[in-house]
Amino acid sequence: MNLLILILALLSPAFSNVSRTASPGTEPIVPAAAANANADPVASDLPQGLRRKILIIGIDGLRPDALLSGHAPNLKALIRSGAFASDASADSITRSGPGWASVLTGVWHDKHHVYDNKIDAFNGGAYPAFFKHLKEKRPDLFTACIVNWAPIRDRLMSGIDLALAPENDDSVAARAAGLLLRGDPDVMFLHFDAPDHAGHEYGFSRFSPPYRHAIARTDFLIGKVLEALQARPGLYREDWLILCTTDHGGTWRHHGEDIPSNRKVFLIVSGSETLRGTAIPNASLVDLAPTVMAYLGIQVDPQWGWEGKAVGLRQPAPETMQAKQSGPAAPPGG
Ligand SMILES: [Zn+2]
Repeated sequence: MNLLILILALLSPAFSNVSRTASPGTEPIVPAAAANANADPVASDLPQGLRRKILIIGIDGLRPDALLSGHAPNLKALIRSGAFASDASADSITRSGPGWASVLTGVWHDKHHVYDNKIDAFNGGAYPAFFKHLKEKRPDLFTACIVNWAPIRDRLMSGIDLALAPENDDSVAARAAGLLLRGDPDVMFLHFDAPDHAGHEYGFSRFSPPYRHAIARTDFLIGKVLEALQARPGLYREDWLILCTTDHGGTWRHHGEDIPSNRKVFLIVSGSETLRGTAIPNASLVDLAPTVMAYLGIQVDPQWGWEGKAVGLRQPAPETMQAKQSGPAAPPGG
């Protein structure tokens, strides 16, 4: 990919328009995976030629019960077209630093040493973000993170080809949509922050209207990202896995303690190669990294010390998927 074109695309004002007209309550956008769920059963079974790609959506402070009772048509479509854990477990220190560190490193705080949001003790040399292992195993993959909470990019990430921390959730969605339409990301991590802010101000509760509004708004922005994914010119030769999770729950207007309402989180594993319609038992935040590797057909090295397991996938990627494959030529003008 031409890096200059990518940068120009990301900087283009055209992409900041993506979410400017956004408002909850607009017609929901059906994600690619959901739209294809009942379309052509043969298409998803094609063993050869499809390039596996992964979109990871992180939403800060989103309680599973509020997600399920809220207005979130796009996330619910992802749940329907995948495997779902509504009672997964976060790190016992239910704060954003330890939570996202566990998602990214595949280990808990006793190994990654992120105890708070300062992240100044991060044991990233021994337990780096999985992107570092990913790039070592598959340097051909283009990796990206676009996060609202900048410490994820500045303190936790490594091995990322493109790392952005725009000023708000709208910009996260706009940049992500721009990259999906004009670039060629293989593994992409997004972070949205609005539910956590609303929770701190008005309460982490499914009965709190501002919290519910933040969830609906986040879902709308995710819909914009999924709409861009679905509009990718090369989508017909790609097979996207979409993972979505949160770092912690919340109680009243706080979180941090090791209590069920803080620690209970969700995990969505959505796509054509997932155990659709099933509940994932005993899921936790450290399962995300092994799931990424399994989908891409990369063996987890025991030396990484990972503590989770791949979840929600129908089967590991066949060996033929391990090498980057050149699919058919793109359509004219694609
Ligand atoms: Zn918070």
